[in-house]
Amino acid sequence: MRKVVLTGAAGFLGYHLAVQLLKEGCVVIGLDNLSTGQKDNIKKLKRSERFLFIQGDAASPMVMDLPELQRADEIYHLASPASPKFYQSHPLETIEVNTRGTFHMLELCRRNKAKLLYTSTSEAYGDPAVHPQSETYRGNVNTWGPRACYDEAKRLGETYCYEYFTKFGVPVKVARIFNTYSAGLRNDDGRVISNFVTQALTGQDITVYGDGSQTRSFCYVDDTVRGLMLMMRESKADGEILNIGNPEEYTILEVARKVKQVSGSESRIVYQDLPKDDPMQRRPDITKARQVLGWSPLVPLEEGLKRTIQAYSQLLRGKRQGEL
Ligand code: NAD
Ligand code: UDP
Repeated sequence: MRKVVLTGAAGFLGYHLAVQLLKEGCVVIGLDNLSTGQKDNIKKLKRSERFLFIQGDAASPMVMDLPELQRADEIYHLASPASPKFYQSHPLETIEVNTRGTFHMLELCRRNKAKLLYTSTSEAYGDPAVHPQSETYRGNVNTWGPRACYDEAKRLGETYCYEYFTKFGVPVKVARIFNTYSAGLRNDDGRVISNFVTQALTGQDITVYGDGSQTRSFCYVDDTVRGLMLMMRESKADGEILNIGNPEEYTILEVARKVKQVSGSESRIVYQDLPKDDPMQRRPDITKARQVLGWSPLVPLEEGLKRTIQAYSQLLRGKRQGEL
Protein backbone atom coordinates (compact mmCIF):
# COMPACT_ATOMS: atom_id res chain seq x y z
CA MET A 1 0.00 0.00 0.00
CA ARG A 2 1.41 3.41 -0.96
CA LYS A 3 1.64 5.89 1.90
CA VAL A 4 0.86 9.42 0.78
CA VAL A 5 1.19 12.64 2.78
CA LEU A 6 -1.14 15.36 1.55
CA THR A 7 -0.87 18.87 2.94
CA GLY A 8 -3.97 21.03 2.46
CA ALA A 9 -6.25 17.96 2.61
CA ALA A 10 -9.21 19.98 3.94
CA GLY A 11 -9.06 22.37 1.00
CA PHE A 12 -10.78 22.32 -2.35
CA LEU A 13 -8.13 20.50 -4.42
CA GLY A 14 -6.74 18.54 -1.47
CA TYR A 15 -10.10 16.97 -0.73
CA HIS A 16 -10.67 15.88 -4.34
CA LEU A 17 -7.15 14.53 -4.59
CA ALA A 18 -7.51 12.60 -1.31
CA VAL A 19 -10.72 10.98 -2.58
CA GLN A 20 -8.94 9.72 -5.70
CA LEU A 21 -5.88 8.50 -3.77
CA LEU A 22 -8.11 6.59 -1.37
CA LYS A 23 -9.95 5.07 -4.34
CA GLU A 24 -6.58 3.82 -5.59
CA GLY A 25 -6.01 2.05 -2.25
CA CYS A 26 -3.41 4.45 -0.79
CA VAL A 27 -3.00 5.27 2.88
CA VAL A 28 -3.45 9.04 3.06
CA ILE A 29 -2.13 11.21 5.87
CA GLY A 30 -3.83 14.60 5.57
CA LEU A 31 -2.16 17.58 7.21
CA ASP A 32 -4.07 20.85 7.42
CA ASN A 33 -4.32 23.83 9.78
CA LEU A 34 -7.95 24.40 8.74
CA SER A 35 -7.29 28.06 7.90
CA THR A 36 -9.14 28.07 4.56
CA GLY A 37 -10.13 24.40 4.45
CA GLN A 38 -13.44 22.88 5.47
CA LYS A 39 -13.88 20.57 8.45
CA ASP A 40 -16.65 18.86 6.55
CA ASN A 41 -14.14 17.65 3.93
CA ILE A 42 -12.13 15.97 6.68
CA LYS A 43 -15.29 14.46 8.17
CA LYS A 44 -16.07 12.87 4.80
CA LEU A 45 -12.50 11.63 4.26
CA LYS A 46 -12.46 10.06 7.73
CA ARG A 47 -15.10 7.59 6.53
CA SER A 48 -12.15 5.71 5.05
CA GLU A 49 -10.05 3.85 7.57
CA ARG A 50 -7.03 4.51 5.33
CA PHE A 51 -7.30 8.25 6.00
CA LEU A 52 -5.64 9.88 8.98
CA PHE A 53 -6.00 13.58 9.76
CA ILE A 54 -3.42 15.68 11.53
CA GLN A 55 -4.28 19.26 12.39
CA GLY A 56 -1.01 21.12 12.05
CA ASP A 57 0.91 23.90 10.35
CA ALA A 58 3.14 22.88 7.43
CA ALA A 59 5.20 26.03 8.05
CA SER A 60 6.18 24.92 11.55
CA PRO A 61 9.51 23.03 11.74
CA MET A 62 7.83 20.59 14.14
CA VAL A 63 6.07 18.93 11.20
CA MET A 64 9.36 17.39 10.13
CA ASP A 65 9.40 15.29 13.31
CA LEU A 66 5.79 14.14 13.29
CA PRO A 67 5.95 10.33 13.37
CA GLU A 68 2.87 10.03 11.12
CA LEU A 69 4.64 11.89 8.30
CA GLN A 70 7.68 9.58 8.23
CA ARG A 71 8.22 6.76 5.75
CA ALA A 72 5.86 8.17 3.15
CA ASP A 73 6.30 7.21 -0.50
CA GLU A 74 4.86 10.44 -1.85
CA ILE A 75 4.17 13.94 -0.54
CA TYR A 76 1.74 16.27 -2.27
CA HIS A 77 2.30 19.78 -0.90
CA LEU A 78 -0.91 21.73 -1.52
CA ALA A 79 -1.19 23.69 1.74
CA SER A 80 -1.60 27.40 0.96
CA PRO A 81 -4.49 29.79 0.63
CA ALA A 82 -5.30 29.99 -3.09
CA SER A 83 -8.04 32.59 -3.34
CA PRO A 84 -6.83 36.22 -3.62
CA LYS A 85 -9.35 37.12 -0.90
CA PHE A 86 -7.72 34.70 1.57
CA TYR A 87 -4.04 35.05 0.65
CA GLN A 88 -4.32 38.82 0.77
CA SER A 89 -5.82 38.69 4.26
CA HIS A 90 -3.01 36.30 5.39
CA PRO A 91 0.01 37.43 3.36
CA LEU A 92 2.73 36.42 5.82
CA GLU A 93 1.24 32.98 6.43
CA THR A 94 1.02 32.53 2.65
CA ILE A 95 4.71 33.33 2.26
CA GLU A 96 5.63 30.99 5.13
CA VAL A 97 3.72 27.94 3.95
CA ASN A 98 5.03 28.19 0.39
CA THR A 99 8.64 28.77 1.39
CA ARG A 100 9.36 27.21 4.80
CA GLY A 101 6.47 24.78 4.36
CA THR A 102 7.90 23.62 1.03
CA PHE A 103 11.35 23.30 2.59
CA HIS A 104 9.90 21.12 5.39
CA MET A 105 8.17 18.81 2.92
CA LEU A 106 11.31 18.57 0.77
CA GLU A 107 13.38 17.75 3.81
CA LEU A 108 10.92 14.99 4.76
CA CYS A 109 11.25 13.63 1.22
CA ARG A 110 15.03 13.70 1.37
CA ARG A 111 15.12 11.85 4.71
CA ASN A 112 12.53 9.28 3.69
CA LYS A 113 13.42 8.90 0.00
CA ALA A 114 9.96 10.08 -1.00
CA LYS A 115 8.74 11.93 -4.10
CA LEU A 116 7.34 15.45 -3.86
CA LEU A 117 4.72 17.19 -5.94
CA TYR A 118 4.49 20.92 -5.28
CA THR A 119 1.41 22.83 -6.41
CA SER A 120 2.67 26.07 -7.85
CA THR A 121 0.43 28.31 -9.90
CA SER A 122 -0.13 30.17 -13.14
CA GLU A 123 0.44 33.24 -10.94
CA ALA A 124 4.14 32.45 -11.30
CA TYR A 125 3.71 34.15 -14.71
CA GLY A 126 2.21 37.27 -13.05
CA ASP A 127 0.50 39.53 -15.59
CA PRO A 128 1.97 37.72 -18.58
CA ALA A 129 3.45 39.59 -21.52
CA VAL A 130 3.63 36.36 -23.53
CA HIS A 131 0.49 34.50 -24.59
CA PRO A 132 -0.27 31.63 -24.15
CA GLN A 133 2.12 30.84 -21.33
CA SER A 134 4.53 27.94 -21.69
CA GLU A 135 6.80 26.76 -18.90
CA THR A 136 9.81 28.49 -20.46
CA TYR A 137 8.23 31.94 -20.03
CA ARG A 138 9.80 33.57 -16.98
CA GLY A 139 6.88 35.78 -16.05
CA ASN A 140 6.05 39.37 -15.29
CA VAL A 141 5.52 39.56 -11.54
CA ASN A 142 5.28 42.60 -9.29
CA THR A 143 7.22 42.11 -6.04
CA TRP A 144 5.55 45.18 -4.53
CA GLY A 145 1.84 44.68 -4.52
CA PRO A 146 -1.10 42.77 -3.04
CA ARG A 147 -0.53 39.60 -5.11
CA ALA A 148 3.23 39.41 -4.46
CA CYS A 149 2.90 37.38 -1.24
CA TYR A 150 1.38 34.56 -3.26
CA ASP A 151 3.16 34.87 -6.60
CA GLU A 152 6.66 35.40 -5.26
CA ALA A 153 6.27 32.83 -2.49
CA LYS A 154 5.24 30.24 -5.08
CA ARG A 155 8.24 31.16 -7.21
CA LEU A 156 10.57 30.72 -4.24
CA GLY A 157 8.82 27.43 -3.43
CA GLU A 158 9.71 26.30 -6.96
CA THR A 159 13.32 27.31 -6.37
CA TYR A 160 13.49 25.21 -3.20
CA CYS A 161 12.27 22.28 -5.31
CA TYR A 162 14.95 22.95 -7.93
CA GLU A 163 17.68 22.96 -5.28
CA TYR A 164 16.50 19.73 -3.65
CA PHE A 165 16.33 18.07 -7.07
CA THR A 166 19.79 19.16 -8.20
CA LYS A 167 21.57 19.00 -4.82
CA PHE A 168 19.99 15.90 -3.26
CA GLY A 169 18.30 14.15 -6.18
CA VAL A 170 14.86 14.30 -4.55
CA PRO A 171 12.31 13.43 -7.26
CA VAL A 172 10.37 16.71 -7.31
CA LYS A 173 7.60 17.73 -9.66
CA VAL A 174 6.21 21.24 -9.92
CA ALA A 175 2.67 21.69 -11.24
CA ARG A 176 1.77 25.22 -12.32
CA ILE A 177 -1.97 24.94 -11.88
CA PHE A 178 -4.30 27.28 -13.76
CA ASN A 179 -7.75 28.28 -12.39
CA THR A 180 -9.51 25.10 -11.29
CA TYR A 181 -13.16 24.95 -10.26
CA SER A 182 -16.09 22.74 -9.27
CA ALA A 183 -18.77 22.77 -6.64
CA GLY A 184 -16.29 21.99 -3.86
CA LEU A 185 -15.17 25.63 -3.69
CA ARG A 186 -16.47 27.43 -0.59
CA ASN A 187 -19.39 29.79 -1.34
CA ASP A 188 -17.47 32.58 0.39
CA ASP A 189 -14.16 31.73 -1.28
CA GLY A 190 -14.24 34.88 -3.43
CA ARG A 191 -12.94 33.17 -6.58
CA VAL A 192 -14.81 33.96 -9.72
CA ILE A 193 -16.72 30.72 -10.34
CA SER A 194 -17.91 30.35 -6.74
CA ASN A 195 -18.92 34.04 -6.66
CA PHE A 196 -20.77 34.01 -9.98
CA VAL A 197 -22.58 30.72 -9.37
CA THR A 198 -23.60 31.67 -5.81
CA GLN A 199 -24.77 35.09 -7.02
CA ALA A 200 -26.70 33.62 -9.96
CA LEU A 201 -28.44 31.02 -7.80
CA THR A 202 -29.39 33.43 -5.03
CA GLY A 203 -30.61 36.21 -7.33
CA GLN A 204 -27.84 38.63 -6.36
CA ASP A 205 -26.04 40.86 -8.87
CA ILE A 206 -23.19 39.11 -10.69
CA THR A 207 -20.09 41.19 -9.93
CA VAL A 208 -17.73 41.56 -12.88
CA TYR A 209 -14.52 43.34 -11.86
CA GLY A 210 -13.29 45.90 -14.38
CA ASP A 211 -14.93 45.73 -17.80
CA GLY A 212 -14.70 41.93 -17.83
CA SER A 213 -12.29 41.83 -20.78
CA GLN A 214 -9.57 40.09 -18.74
CA THR A 215 -9.29 36.40 -19.57
CA ARG A 216 -8.84 33.16 -17.64
CA SER A 217 -8.78 29.48 -18.60
CA PHE A 218 -10.82 27.21 -16.36
CA CYS A 219 -10.04 23.58 -15.67
CA TYR A 220 -12.59 21.23 -14.09
CA VAL A 221 -11.31 19.72 -10.84
CA ASP A 222 -11.36 16.09 -12.08
CA ASP A 223 -9.01 17.01 -14.92
CA THR A 224 -6.59 18.86 -12.64
CA VAL A 225 -6.51 16.04 -10.08
CA ARG A 226 -5.89 13.44 -12.81
CA GLY A 227 -3.01 15.57 -14.11
CA LEU A 228 -1.45 15.83 -10.64
CA MET A 229 -1.66 12.09 -10.03
CA LEU A 230 -0.15 11.27 -13.43
CA MET A 231 2.64 13.69 -12.72
CA MET A 232 3.45 12.08 -9.39
CA ARG A 233 3.57 8.64 -11.02
CA GLU A 234 5.59 9.59 -14.11
CA SER A 235 9.37 9.55 -13.60
CA LYS A 236 9.80 11.65 -16.78
CA ALA A 237 8.20 14.46 -14.76
CA ASP A 238 11.00 14.37 -12.15
CA GLY A 239 12.75 17.72 -11.94
CA GLU A 240 10.19 19.26 -14.31
CA ILE A 241 7.70 22.09 -14.19
CA LEU A 242 4.42 21.37 -16.01
CA ASN A 243 1.43 23.58 -16.70
CA ILE A 244 -1.80 21.88 -15.60
CA GLY A 245 -4.78 23.77 -16.96
CA ASN A 246 -7.41 23.92 -19.66
CA PRO A 247 -6.34 25.97 -22.70
CA GLU A 248 -9.96 27.07 -23.45
CA GLU A 249 -9.81 30.80 -22.74
CA TYR A 250 -12.76 33.07 -21.85
CA THR A 251 -13.19 36.69 -20.92
CA ILE A 252 -14.67 37.14 -17.45
CA LEU A 253 -17.73 38.80 -19.01
CA GLU A 254 -18.25 35.69 -21.15
CA VAL A 255 -18.05 33.58 -18.00
CA ALA A 256 -20.67 35.77 -16.28
CA ARG A 257 -23.00 35.38 -19.27
CA LYS A 258 -22.41 31.63 -19.44
CA VAL A 259 -23.19 31.19 -15.72
CA LYS A 260 -26.40 33.22 -16.18
CA GLN A 261 -27.41 31.17 -19.20
CA VAL A 262 -26.61 27.73 -17.76
CA SER A 263 -28.32 28.50 -14.43
CA GLY A 264 -31.28 30.29 -16.04
CA SER A 265 -30.70 33.14 -13.57
CA GLU A 266 -32.39 36.55 -13.72
CA SER A 267 -29.44 38.20 -11.91
CA ARG A 268 -28.07 41.45 -13.36
CA ILE A 269 -24.45 41.72 -14.38
CA VAL A 270 -22.87 44.70 -12.61
CA TYR A 271 -19.37 46.14 -12.85
CA GLN A 272 -17.02 46.86 -9.94
CA ASP A 273 -13.45 48.13 -9.69
CA LEU A 274 -10.73 45.88 -11.06
CA PRO A 275 -8.43 44.79 -8.20
CA LYS A 276 -4.84 46.05 -8.35
CA ASP A 277 -2.43 43.93 -10.41
CA ASP A 278 -5.25 41.68 -11.70
CA PRO A 279 -3.66 39.80 -14.64
CA MET A 280 -5.20 40.72 -18.01
CA GLN A 281 -4.84 37.36 -19.71
CA ARG A 282 -4.06 33.78 -18.87
CA ARG A 283 -4.00 30.62 -20.98
CA PRO A 284 -1.75 27.62 -20.52
CA ASP A 285 0.30 26.09 -23.28
CA ILE A 286 -0.03 22.42 -22.31
CA THR A 287 2.20 20.92 -25.01
CA LYS A 288 4.67 19.73 -22.38
CA ALA A 289 2.04 18.02 -20.19
CA ARG A 290 0.64 16.30 -23.29
CA GLN A 291 4.11 15.03 -24.21
CA VAL A 292 5.35 14.03 -20.76
CA LEU A 293 2.10 12.70 -19.28
CA GLY A 294 -0.18 12.12 -22.26
CA TRP A 295 -2.57 14.37 -20.31
CA SER A 296 -5.09 16.89 -21.52
CA PRO A 297 -8.36 18.11 -19.98
CA LEU A 298 -11.61 16.39 -20.94
CA VAL A 299 -14.34 18.59 -19.43
CA PRO A 300 -15.27 21.74 -21.38
CA LEU A 301 -16.37 24.84 -19.42
CA GLU A 302 -20.06 24.53 -20.26
CA GLU A 303 -20.22 20.92 -19.03
CA GLY A 304 -18.20 21.76 -15.91
CA LEU A 305 -20.49 24.69 -15.16
CA LYS A 306 -23.58 22.49 -15.50
CA ARG A 307 -22.17 20.06 -12.93
CA THR A 308 -21.07 22.90 -10.65
CA ILE A 309 -24.38 24.74 -10.80
CA GLN A 310 -26.35 21.56 -10.14
CA ALA A 311 -24.26 20.70 -7.10
CA TYR A 312 -24.32 24.27 -5.69
CA SER A 313 -28.08 24.49 -6.06
CA GLN A 314 -28.52 21.22 -4.14
CA LEU A 315 -26.22 22.59 -1.44
CA LEU A 316 -28.12 25.88 -1.21
CA ARG A 317 -31.48 24.05 -1.10
CA GLY A 318 -30.13 21.90 1.75
CA LYS A 319 -28.97 25.01 3.64
CA ARG A 320 -32.34 26.73 3.21
CA GLN A 321 -34.16 23.66 4.49
CA GLY A 322 -31.76 23.51 7.46
CA GLU A 323 -32.63 27.11 8.31
CA LEU A 324 -36.40 26.46 8.37
P1 NAD B 1 -7.81 25.93 -0.56
O1 NAD B 1 -7.66 27.24 0.13
O2 NAD B 1 -9.19 25.41 -0.78
O3 NAD B 1 -7.00 24.81 0.21
C1 NAD B 1 -5.77 25.03 0.81
C2 NAD B 1 -5.69 24.21 2.09
O4 NAD B 1 -4.43 24.44 2.72
C3 NAD B 1 -6.76 24.59 3.11
O5 NAD B 1 -7.39 23.44 3.59
C4 NAD B 1 -5.99 25.30 4.22
O6 NAD B 1 -6.60 25.18 5.48
C5 NAD B 1 -4.64 24.60 4.12
N1 NAD B 1 -3.52 25.38 4.66
C6 NAD B 1 -3.20 26.68 4.40
N2 NAD B 1 -2.09 27.04 5.06
C7 NAD B 1 -1.68 25.92 5.75
C8 NAD B 1 -0.59 25.65 6.61
N3 NAD B 1 0.31 26.59 6.92
N4 NAD B 1 -0.47 24.41 7.12
C9 NAD B 1 -1.37 23.44 6.82
N5 NAD B 1 -2.43 23.65 6.01
C10 NAD B 1 -2.59 24.87 5.49
O7 NAD B 1 -7.03 26.05 -1.94
P2 NAD B 1 -7.05 25.06 -3.21
O8 NAD B 1 -7.78 25.72 -4.30
O9 NAD B 1 -7.43 23.70 -2.78
O10 NAD B 1 -5.50 25.08 -3.61
C11 NAD B 1 -4.63 24.04 -3.21
C12 NAD B 1 -3.23 24.33 -3.74
O11 NAD B 1 -3.25 24.42 -5.17
C13 NAD B 1 -2.64 25.65 -3.24
O12 NAD B 1 -1.27 25.46 -2.99
C14 NAD B 1 -2.84 26.59 -4.39
O13 NAD B 1 -1.88 27.62 -4.39
C15 NAD B 1 -2.70 25.66 -5.58
N6 NAD B 1 -3.43 26.19 -6.76
C16 NAD B 1 -4.78 26.10 -6.81
C17 NAD B 1 -5.44 26.63 -7.91
C18 NAD B 1 -6.94 26.55 -8.03
O14 NAD B 1 -7.48 27.06 -9.02
N7 NAD B 1 -7.65 25.91 -7.13
C19 NAD B 1 -4.73 27.26 -8.93
C20 NAD B 1 -3.34 27.34 -8.81
C21 NAD B 1 -2.70 26.78 -7.73
N1 UDP C 1 -13.53 38.30 -10.70
C1 UDP C 1 -14.69 39.00 -11.02
N2 UDP C 1 -15.71 38.95 -10.12
C2 UDP C 1 -15.66 38.22 -8.96
C3 UDP C 1 -14.49 37.51 -8.67
C4 UDP C 1 -13.43 37.58 -9.56
O1 UDP C 1 -14.77 39.66 -12.06
O2 UDP C 1 -16.66 38.22 -8.23
C5 UDP C 1 -12.41 38.34 -11.68
C6 UDP C 1 -11.07 38.72 -11.08
O3 UDP C 1 -10.91 40.13 -11.07
C7 UDP C 1 -10.10 38.03 -12.05
C8 UDP C 1 -10.87 36.78 -12.48
O4 UDP C 1 -12.24 37.03 -12.19
O5 UDP C 1 -9.90 38.83 -13.19
C9 UDP C 1 -10.40 35.51 -11.75
O6 UDP C 1 -10.41 35.80 -10.37
P1 UDP C 1 -10.12 34.71 -9.26
O7 UDP C 1 -10.06 35.43 -7.95
O8 UDP C 1 -11.07 33.58 -9.38
O9 UDP C 1 -8.70 34.10 -9.65
P2 UDP C 1 -7.31 34.73 -10.13
O10 UDP C 1 -7.41 36.22 -10.26
O11 UDP C 1 -6.35 34.32 -9.08
O12 UDP C 1 -7.08 34.09 -11.45
